Amino acid sequence: MNECRVCGALLPNPDYSASAPALTSIATHLAIPTQIYVCRNCGHGQSPDLPKIQEFYDTQYRISLQSDQHDQLYEVRDGEPVFRTQRQAEMLAAMKLPLQARVLDFGAAKGTTLRTLLQARPDLRPSIFDVSSDYVTFWQDWVPESEQAIHHIPAEWQGRFDLVTAHFVVEHVVDPIGTLQQLAGLLAPAGRLFFTVPDPLGNTGDFLVVDHVNHFTTSSLIRTCEASGLVPLTLAGDLFRGAYVVIAEKLSVSGSRSGSIQCDVASDIHQALEALAFWTKAMDFLDDDQGKDSQAPTAIYGAGFYGALIAARLQQPPICFLDRNTYLQGRDYLGVTVVAPEECPDSVRRIYPGLNPSHARSILANADGWLPPHARIHFLADA
Ligand SMILES: [Zn+2]
Repeated sequence: MNECRVCGALLPNPDYSASAPALTSIATHLAIPTQIYVCRNCGHGQSPDLPKIQEFYDTQYRISLQSDQHDQLYEVRDGEPVFRTQRQAEMLAAMKLPLQARVLDFGAAKGTTLRTLLQARPDLRPSIFDVSSDYVTFWQDWVPESEQAIHHIPAEWQGRFDLVTAHFVVEHVVDPIGTLQQLAGLLAPAGRLFFTVPDPLGNTGDFLVVDHVNHFTTSSLIRTCEASGLVPLTLAGDLFRGAYVVIAEKLSVSGSRSGSIQCDVASDIHQALEALAFWTKAMDFLDDDQGKDSQAPTAIYGAGFYGALIAARLQQPPICFLDRNTYLQGRDYLGVTVVAPEECPDSVRRIYPGLNPSHARSILANADGWLPPHARIHFLADA
């Protein structure tokens, strides 16, 4: 890896390195090291291309394929679970698309977001694309066959869509500018592109997700849009937790509005390097702490991405995961049972927070209420 994927600047040495295994966004392990570079010119974070990247997405990366209803929990609102695709559909519905607008979901997987949007807006005309044929059966009842595409975009789709969406796609691609140029080419003259990518500064564990080969900051997102012939109209970090939401149109449409979104590249670079320094320290701590007593019965608080990150570095599997989320309790996560904190077995001596490090101390501030008598929380480091 020598050049920034966004601005082409040289990237001399990695700012974070860890030996195998690497963790994927679907909480599986790959037997490759993790290396992260931060571009000192545009603020983009990036990792090397995955080996056999095509094969990974075509055959291994089956997100939420277990059932039609399976989806990632976004939040619990008034006691009811709200899933990620519901929140995505809400944001699209707020865009007030014209009647019978043509909407393409690019990298759609099962297309649950678009399908949910169609319930609110049955007039919309859906099209769907993915790089894997795994999902086709989920599209049959509601997307006309002529509007389904796998691997290759049909030539007649050029300049055709009022809205193109790409939910959590661009962080995976080795050529983000080429991908966004391709999507821009599919837009009708006044069409808009809606895309989301993780926010690695707000949710720093994203840096360590090995199939997220891009880690965008505000600065590098603006630069990527501009290099792709797009103008971001909205670039928000507060519409979807842990992510940037970008709504853009083709440069020719707005002209003078280019450059209206502010960014601070020096601050983005500084924050990215701080986050990587934290993770270097945290992983060293975890290795040292294990070395002191590798046999201590251990639990991980948090059955999500951060919990998987910790579990991957443990020499012995944890006894259990602890989680407040009642939708996870009683289930298995990575082959280990998830229980409520109050159910933590008395044998547990050591608890690692599997949480966003910026919030770990406040989330665990009242742990005295449930902590087993001989257990202690081992914070990774101070974020
Ligand atoms: Zn760069």
